[in-house]
Amino acid sequence: MKTIIKKLIPRRIGYVLRSIYLFFRKIIYSGNKFFCPLCRRSYKSFLDGGFDLAVNKEMQIIGAGRRKHVVCPGCASTDRDRLLFVYLNSSPGILKPSVKTLHIAPEPGLGKYLSSMSKTEYVSGMKYHEGFYYGKNTKLFDITALPFEENKFELIVCNHVLEHIDDDHQAMKEIYRVMKPNGTAILQVPWSPILKETREDSSVKDPKEREKQFGQFDHVRLYGTDYPDRLKKAGFNVEIVTLEQLNIKVDYQKRISVIPNEVIFIAKK
Ligand SMILES: [Zn+2]
Repeated sequence: MKTIIKKLIPRRIGYVLRSIYLFFRKIIYSGNKFFCPLCRRSYKSFLDGGFDLAVNKEMQIIGAGRRKHVVCPGCASTDRDRLLFVYLNSSPGILKPSVKTLHIAPEPGLGKYLSSMSKTEYVSGMKYHEGFYYGKNTKLFDITALPFEENKFELIVCNHVLEHIDDDHQAMKEIYRVMKPNGTAILQVPWSPILKETREDSSVKDPKEREKQFGQFDHVRLYGTDYPDRLKKAGFNVEIVTLEQLNIKVDYQKRISVIPNEVIFIAKK
């Protein structure tokens, strides 16, 4: 039903309606218990989110599953967007005014923040999806053939995208190609800490079967503990950062509602 409504409403009007909806939600949810660092407002609660599927529990998937207090009522940021905010603000030297940023499949709240911090250049883009409302400045491109010259961006953010891409190796190589030497790419994916080898099968096309095997109707694989090795095969050096390493106090983790055991995959060139 939601998809049909989205198809019937012209994109621009849909975008305005969404902004009005978020404005009222922001007022209704005002309170003190939670804080969103991206829109810098406090709320009585965040909204629940994620999919309730057996595979999430069975494979202990990190960064997926039905969760409490996920979505910010005001800017629609999720727990994983706020995690990246925490990482970026705990890592001096990344968000300098001269940074050129590429944000792939931009999340609105995080995108607004990154564009305000990337004074020199902020480019966001994604593949065209019918009925999806993206911001008016979002470019349309294919992650496996990025329309940019090599060594262009110092910061690339690609949050929960690679698990949707058939040829993720080609996508990783493209991200590597357009990234400046010494740049930083944040390449988050849902992954299973108990799966040694990434589970993928290109013959699985049925959305229900994908849900069952990979954790979401449109995921083409479930990454395992070999995910960093796959990034290395594309040329990257990989660092895995935890909230503990970032020294984020547990009280603050709860207040901004991030997943305590989610790690951040940092790829360097
Ligand atoms: Zn927010």
